[in-house]
Amino acid sequence: MNDEAWEKVCERCGRCCYEKVDFQGKIYYTQVPCEYLDLQTCLCKVYPDRARQRPGCVPLTPELVKRGYLPADCPYVADVEEYPEPVMDGEPESE
Ligand code: SF4
Repeated sequence: MNDEAWEKVCERCGRCCYEKVDFQGKIYYTQVPCEYLDLQTCLCKVYPDRARQRPGCVPLTPELVKRGYLPADCPYVADVEEYPEPVMDGEPESE
């Protein structure tokens, strides 16, 4: 799949642009949006320059999407077998 086709897979819902916590290998979404997410349009305000303005924003690759960072119903993970879906709006249970 070329870059243009890869980009078109995204439905621009913006859900993956919320902060996440990796706790013991499981991804937990928080309710804190990225500072550059436009909450009205659900689009990134600095998309072409996001890697420079927010170094923690990692471009999606076929390998990365298998790791459980995206919501289970995101189209990028639709064909991933045994996808390790994240916990949405959750927090790790304290012990
Ligand atoms: S969750 Fe998936 S469809 Fe929604 S913005 Fe993120 S990559 Fe795109």
